[in-house]
Amino acid sequence: MSARILIVDDVLPNVKLLAAKLTREYFDVVTAYNGPEALEKVAREAPDIILLDVMMPGMDGFEVCERIRADPETTHIPIVMITALSDAADRVRGLEAGADDFLTKPVNDIALFARVRSLVRLKMTMDEWRLRDSTSGQFGLLPSTRSAAAESIQGARILVVEDSPIDLEKINEAVKRDQCDVASCVSCAIGLERALSEDFDLIVISLTLVNEDGLRLGSHLRSHERTRQVPMLLIADEGDLGRIAKGLELGANDYLLKPIDRNELVARVRTQVRRKRYQDRLRANYEQSLSLALTDSLTGVFNRRYVGAHLPRLLGRSEANQKPAAALMFDIDHFKLVNDSYGHPVGDEVLMEVAERSKCNLRNIDLVARWGGEEFVVIMPDTDADAALVVAERLRRCVADQAFRVNAPVGEIMVTISIGVAVAIAGETSADHLLKRADDALYRAKRNGRNQVVVDGGIAPVA
Ligand code: GH3
Ligand code: MG
Ligand code: MG
Repeated sequence: MSARILIVDDVLPNVKLLAAKLTREYFDVVTAYNGPEALEKVAREAPDIILLDVMMPGMDGFEVCERIRADPETTHIPIVMITALSDAADRVRGLEAGADDFLTKPVNDIALFARVRSLVRLKMTMDEWRLRDSTSGQFGLLPSTRSAAAESIQGARILVVEDSPIDLEKINEAVKRDQCDVASCVSCAIGLERALSEDFDLIVISLTLVNEDGLRLGSHLRSHERTRQVPMLLIADEGDLGRIAKGLELGANDYLLKPIDRNELVARVRTQVRRKRYQDRLRANYEQSLSLALTDSLTGVFNRRYVGAHLPRLLGRSEANQKPAAALMFDIDHFKLVNDSYGHPVGDEVLMEVAERSKCNLRNIDLVARWGGEEFVVIMPDTDADAALVVAERLRRCVADQAFRVNAPVGEIMVTISIGVAVAIAGETSADHLLKRADDALYRAKRNGRNQVVVDGGIAPVA
């Protein structure tokens, strides 16, 4: 997991020390010694992460941070502020200026690598979503000025596994101030059970449990699908740096040392929750845009674009496996009459019901798509002509045999469909040709009187 890191500090030895540590871990390091130079390097070098000193003559770290955030080209780059000692006020200001995290000087190695690795992971996920966003042609889906820092943490659900009543009380009190909802337990077994059955935005694990090893819980959480992505924050004693390092290695996102500093706790909790919510949002946006792009909004079945992308791949696979695949094309009979007699909304109801009945009468691996208007396509892998005919006849009957309940004074109406069937045998890889044959068969079914199935005559015998 390599990444380019920009170090910004006005004190040369500080820069050199950090650069040496990061280079040793195979990070690619870029340096800047003041605010303007930092902005220039950010624009030119496209760093993955910025380590930014707060106290600099002229333009200080807060201003540099604000400027990076204000520029749509750079707003998504994670920034770690480096503050002198443990000045709580500076941290708050840094987070307000848009920093993602902070480190205190002198910078300790474990802290440095924990934060850097966690941010590199985040950046990589974000870059991936941004890329998908652009490939799916949904530019502008992710508002460019948004970043993890803009996420609210209100109502976040946090699970705390801690057996020290004093520390638990401290965590509870600090986190509740932020209007988060805390669930606590004193044993790893109960913690795991709750984590696997409820949704949490963050899991805080104490490494000072009297009878148990919190790291084991961490490792269980990372091995279950449900909790793999939930951020974990470790809380440990200063003397336990070795186990913290182990915890970070197995996937914990951050840590905090006891005695717990409330401000630091709140800041770290906020950072983790915001990142999780931001990533959840990116994923949900992506999935939604994908489903909007590939399904029909009225009936919920796939759309023509999806068939166009999917059918050629399916035919390629069928050919490789020497298996047949079938396509049905069907169209509602005299649908115009439905619209004309009962109105367009009733026509829509009929379309939805036809799609629903089709789905119910097909296998999971079959695919139904609305081809346009009142015309649908069904694609069936591993299906020969005989089987396709049986399915088509079943579809025809499941529409024709039972009246459609509609929102019109008549209450229900009879609907029929005509179906054309074509089977692609080994060797046929043109999706257009297959659909054309199904369409020709459909045309004949219409001409022959509708409410019937016609199989394409051009099926060559299987070699
Ligand atoms: P045929 O039996 O030959 O298929 O006759 P038909 O009346 O079904 O075919 P035609 O192509 O003449 O009419 C199709 C109608 O479907 C016309 C169009 O307004 C209507 N239509 C297309 N899309 C929708 C839709 O989304 N909702 C509704 N309610 N009607 C639609
Ligand atoms: Mg029609
Ligand atoms: Mg039509």
